[in-house]
Amino acid sequence: MHKIDIDLIEMTLDVMKYAIGRISATEHPIGKPKKYEELKELVGETVTESGVGGEYAFNLWKEHLSKANVPVDHPRNLAFVPASPTRAAIMFDLVTSASSIHGAYWMEGAGGIFCENEAMKWIVSLTGLPEGAFGVFTSGGTAANLSAIVTAREHWREDDTYKREKGLIITSIGAHSSVKAMAKVADVDILLVDSEERLTGSDLRETIDKLNFHQRKRLFAVVATGGTTNAGIIDDLEGIAEICEKENIWLHVDAAYGGGALAADSVRHLFNGIERADSITIDPHKWMFSPYDCGAVIYKNPELAKNAHSQQGSYLDIFKDEGAHGFNPTDYQIQLTRRVRGLPLWFSLATHGTDKYKEAVERGLELAQIAGKLIEENPNVELVREPSLSCVLYRRIGWKPEDYTHWTYENHKKGFALVTPTKWKNGDTFETVSRFCFINPDTTEEDIRLILESMN
Ligand SMILES: *Cc1c(COP(=O)(O)O)cnc(C)c1O
Repeated sequence: MHKIDIDLIEMTLDVMKYAIGRISATEHPIGKPKKYEELKELVGETVTESGVGGEYAFNLWKEHLSKANVPVDHPRNLAFVPASPTRAAIMFDLVTSASSIHGAYWMEGAGGIFCENEAMKWIVSLTGLPEGAFGVFTSGGTAANLSAIVTAREHWREDDTYKREKGLIITSIGAHSSVKAMAKVADVDILLVDSEERLTGSDLRETIDKLNFHQRKRLFAVVATGGTTNAGIIDDLEGIAEICEKENIWLHVDAAYGGGALAADSVRHLFNGIERADSITIDPHKWMFSPYDCGAVIYKNPELAKNAHSQQGSYLDIFKDEGAHGFNPTDYQIQLTRRVRGLPLWFSLATHGTDKYKEAVERGLELAQIAGKLIEENPNVELVREPSLSCVLYRRIGWKPEDYTHWTYENHKKGFALVTPTKWKNGDTFETVSRFCFINPDTTEEDIRLILESMN
């Protein structure tokens, strides 16, 4: 299994050929999901005592299994938050895999971690956080949010007054589902401000003022969103930071999706106040064109994260030794063993320079404006709200929720586009609407026009 023979050489070439084909292709079919039973019928037993052989298994992948995936980088995949990794980043993802680097400790992964940190410096510089702020790459926004919440809670509990208290955090219903899910993991309660529109300083003030004495004692963090996943709304970070500072509450800004837009001069001002956060989540695998999976968590004071996350064990004692000193990414988030998942981003940044990132993000913002204009010109559809960042919510006049669902499946089945419905809270009711999220700079005005026409 670990020996080299002629079959292995051939397989290496086959795999490289496939990768080259995928990387250099300019058009990718939108795959269709199939039921488990159908896939099983097509490929049969693949994991057996003696193995089916690499060539056979690879053919099953190419013939059947690869086609049951929807590539996130398809220009007409505008569902959820799509992605569009650069070719340079994809290539270096291959290099990362081939290099077998353990990315937890500098002692083992110095070269890789050095590169990650160069990329991280650029990301941190976009936030405007003060000198000393730094971050690490995580598996995604969920892991980044959890790492930040746990850091905040541990810091809060350093004070004996709070040792036995269950923590409480405030966020809004526009916050991402992972914030609520990770609050459960960290066993803290969550109070949701009941509006999907921009959370302001005065909303927060009002919410805090309504807390009873014990709730106020338990409140240790506020999670603001720098670009809501559903609608691209950026909370009033300045106003929220003001209150958090006054009340001595940790401010976490979840910019998993929107963080890429910090690079775009046209919207950077909307994030003002982010430089006052205690921690920030940004997902390079969303709007910084990295392959999956690559999130990031950044701390104003990384020492606090180290206090919360550094793991102890006799087998890890060597890392405390003088000879092993250096930056250890494991100390700042929940994972021990980790892939140097910031390496593909580093290579792409080094290859293209940060200006190209600015341009590519600006294109996503521009596509949202173009879509807004096309929607206004089309009598069948109307905007639910003005496009925000690269998200556009719009309704097809006269459609019921099931019409949106049917339309989504039809477009998907045809291999034409993936655009999914969402809900928008309007007063006390939730309306089903259609949503675009633009990431891929290869999406064209024509793509948008065709998608809108398919609603006629
Ligand atoms: C996508 C997203 C997350 C979750 O990130 P994953 O990388 O999917 O774990 C968290 N917060 C926001 C605002 C997001 O858009």
